[in-house]
Amino acid sequence: MQKMDVSQFKDRYKKKFQERFAFNYENATKQEQFVALGHLVKDLYSSDWKETVDTYQENKQKQVYYFSMEFLPGRMLKSNLLNLGILDVVQEGLAELGLDLDEVASGEMDPALGNGGLGRLASCFMDSLASTGLPGNGNGIRYRYGLFKQKFIDGHQIELPENWLRNGNVWEVRRENKAVTVRFGGQVSLEPDNEGNMHVTYHNTQNILAVPYDTAMVGYQNGTVNNLRLWSAEIPYGEEYLFPTEEERNGVKQITEYLYPDDSNYEGLLLRLKQEYFFSSAGVQSVVRYFKQLNLDWSYLPDKIAIHINDTHPTLAIPELMRILMDEEGLSWEQAWEITKKTISYTNHTILQEAMERWSIDMMNLLLPRITQIIMEINRRHIEKKTPLYGEDLTNRTAIVANGEIKMANLAIIGSHSINGVAKLHTNILINHTLHDFYLMYPNKFNNKTNGVTMRRWLQISNPGLTDLLDETIGTEWKTNANDIILLKAYAEDKEVLARIDAVKLENKKRFAKYVSEEMDIEIDPNAIFDVQIKRLHAYKRQLLNVLHILDRYQYIKDNPGVDIPKRVFIFGAKAAPSYHYAKQIIKLINAIAEMINNDSSLNDLIKVVFVENYGVSLAELIIPAADVSEQISLAGKEASGTSNMKLMANGALTIATMDGATVEIYDYVGEENIYIFGMSNEEVQKLNAANSYNSREIYEKNPAVKRVLNMLIDGSIPGLEDEGQDIFDSLVKYNDEYYLLKDFDSYINAHKQIDKDFRNRETWNRRALLNIASSGPFSADYTIERYADEIWKLGAQREPEDLI
Ligand SMILES: *Cc1c(COP(=O)(O)O)cnc(C)c1O
Repeated sequence: MQKMDVSQFKDRYKKKFQERFAFNYENATKQEQFVALGHLVKDLYSSDWKETVDTYQENKQKQVYYFSMEFLPGRMLKSNLLNLGILDVVQEGLAELGLDLDEVASGEMDPALGNGGLGRLASCFMDSLASTGLPGNGNGIRYRYGLFKQKFIDGHQIELPENWLRNGNVWEVRRENKAVTVRFGGQVSLEPDNEGNMHVTYHNTQNILAVPYDTAMVGYQNGTVNNLRLWSAEIPYGEEYLFPTEEERNGVKQITEYLYPDDSNYEGLLLRLKQEYFFSSAGVQSVVRYFKQLNLDWSYLPDKIAIHINDTHPTLAIPELMRILMDEEGLSWEQAWEITKKTISYTNHTILQEAMERWSIDMMNLLLPRITQIIMEINRRHIEKKTPLYGEDLTNRTAIVANGEIKMANLAIIGSHSINGVAKLHTNILINHTLHDFYLMYPNKFNNKTNGVTMRRWLQISNPGLTDLLDETIGTEWKTNANDIILLKAYAEDKEVLARIDAVKLENKKRFAKYVSEEMDIEIDPNAIFDVQIKRLHAYKRQLLNVLHILDRYQYIKDNPGVDIPKRVFIFGAKAAPSYHYAKQIIKLINAIAEMINNDSSLNDLIKVVFVENYGVSLAELIIPAADVSEQISLAGKEASGTSNMKLMANGALTIATMDGATVEIYDYVGEENIYIFGMSNEEVQKLNAANSYNSREIYEKNPAVKRVLNMLIDGSIPGLEDEGQDIFDSLVKYNDEYYLLKDFDSYINAHKQIDKDFRNRETWNRRALLNIASSGPFSADYTIERYADEIWKLGAQREPEDLI
């Protein structure tokens, strides 16, 4: 890319604005100001984009395609500016034009194409692939509305459509010439031709057009611009007559409208399955089309292409690749199977049984008859081959098809060459428990890849104050080699640096306090402890345990008026799945106690509760740099990895946590003096499960603090609660507290008391914040992605045609 100075930028911006809007930028809305800037930025990287794609193709380089139901990129303007190396120039240029970059950047809609950690991981990986110069592409769905927009009405979560495309999307390019057809329904028949080869014929299928929209993934100052391809479902042009009713036409549009539509009924489930096949099939078709241009023997496909499936949502890529290779390209089952297994790899993201995808065979067969045949045959061959080796019991436990259902994780493991967990503990649990039977069959497929986060977005963009401090102390090498952040340790005794850590944090807290004051009309003191739990709302993540602590603290302050403890602001951000009633009740509870506490002047502002509406990447960027305490309090063994734990650590928050997910690795890096660990370990949880002796009511009866807090849920103490108080109380006392909150209660409260004490000693606290920042380098997604590239995708070391003799 050509370099540009401030005055060149100003000229180009004025001209670009004029071209697009035919009036002056000064009179424009911030959306318009953003759109013009976005188009200017796109012009700047477009030649690198084309060149990158061309080079991969000319060199016939092996490329990876990352298939994911979700991507959660966040606003892309600043990230693109940073990665193009023109963030400063643009900031200065805009300022000279009388505009503020942050204001203009806020004119961009935050694309809600993901739900939580899994989607954000996919986007961190896209950034790291480009920034490490690796040939990696994304494949997903261009949701018209994506995930719902969350509103609180009387403290209840209300879901509204997020119309994020209403002002258009400057970053995407519609590529109608690359569209493919995806078939649903109908019947298949297999008929032999004259040579006796079977031919598949489809009858009465519904053919839908998948149109790709491409978005550039700009690498960090290295000229690499990769591609994220998102598919949109459309009626094939000229075939509108095949969709005569409004209902049929809506049925097509619906496929790419919402992320995770309500799947508590048959229609919703069917739609979800359609979505999964839609983007898996479109992605595989476009990958195969690309491979055919290389003019290589089919056996080279795994040497040129890796397809990675992010959790089981894209697992239908396996039978789809089989289908194309056999039915359309005429390969034998054996050839197609070898190629498919070598091409595909899979990441497991959860051990929660209820999150393991299963589809009814009947539904699958109705929607995808040929794919169902292939899955049944994969299963038949698997059982036939493995039973003599492993016996009937073990083999049957690994079956893909059982009790009228298709188990997607089983298909993903059997049909791929690699399965990885996302943190050491998680991978160990997969190997030793959840997927142990598979491990016995395929020990070499299993590996760990601890998640990571891109420090560019989570430090450089969201925390410029800390970025400057790092640049001035340890130099700038950390930006491309995050392990260098460890050099900050040398400043652990430097009072001046410690004071600056404090000052940077205070600035960030003021920035967030301003947002809270303006948007929520709640005043919070920037000198208070900002205690943060931001993540999807789920019982296993135990936001409710956090709530119990708040209520305990509330009682303590009521009992001890004038008590001298540091002020706390409890900050929550969380969406609940629309059909997850219990999670929504917890949202209502948090809002109710926020209302009660924030309006109680007798508490002397010692506690405040802030539950931000519509948590997403943009809010994360505002909250994370302002956090003093990071809440990672899932029941040990349940959180696969977590990534907000990494972002918060890198921004100098101290973690209070159970030994779960990647937090175990945070503990290893930062050392026990610099983290607050509480609660049962995974082994202790396993033992307690096995003993089957847990009795939560006993704790309720015997522990006065627990009793008092839980009684608040049912005795009318918390205004505005309806059934929620009783239902939540019952979940903890009557239904035996599935996630062991009461068991961990005391040690959690004690850890928080220690935090109160420690926060008072500013210098020691700042030193520990510094050591957290300094120890966060290994969690850079650049390293994670390099390990995927070397160990799973083998991007550097593929066979070349000359090797074939
Ligand atoms: C990082 C991130 C997550 C993941 O949070 P966990 O605590 O790891 O579950 C979810 N949502 C957003 C917006 C994020 O940035």
